[in-house]
Amino acid sequence: MRLDLTQLIKSQGISKDINYSLDLSNLELFGYYPFKKPIIVEGSVYNICGALVIKATANAIFDGLCDRCQKEFSMPVSVEFESNIALKETGDVGQDTIITNNGMLEVDDIIKENLILSIPMKLLCKDDCKGLCYICGNDLNDKKCNCIS
Ligand SMILES: [Zn+2]
Ligand SMILES: [Zn+2]
Repeated sequence: MRLDLTQLIKSQGISKDINYSLDLSNLELFGYYPFKKPIIVEGSVYNICGALVIKATANAIFDGLCDRCQKEFSMPVSVEFESNIALKETGDVGQDTIITNNGMLEVDDIIKENLILSIPMKLLCKDDCKGLCYICGNDLNDKKCNCIS
């Protein structure tokens, strides 16, 4: 989704709603496709006293491989973020400020970036996943083996 902010910047106290579903099923990460289902994006861009702020939530289902048992699993991911928007590059732009190109905001890119940042470094199908036996490869969640006494 691309938002045209050229009108919004001129109207203080006005906001523009963001409400759409984003398809990232083609996005490849770590060798697989983590977002097979559409991502629900809800939020707004506000003009607060002449400054533009985007506030949005993205709800996605993340499909990953468990680091311990190597099984595929799904988990809901919800990201909420707020960023300032600058219409052009100026000297005093803060770190969390998004700079647009000609007043056009690429919402998809912001959502994508925030979703990727929200993925934990260690992926576990469940917190207490027992993983695989390092001797016989048995999935210890299913049954015990006799390798370790
Ligand atoms: Zn697991
Ligand atoms: Zn074993």
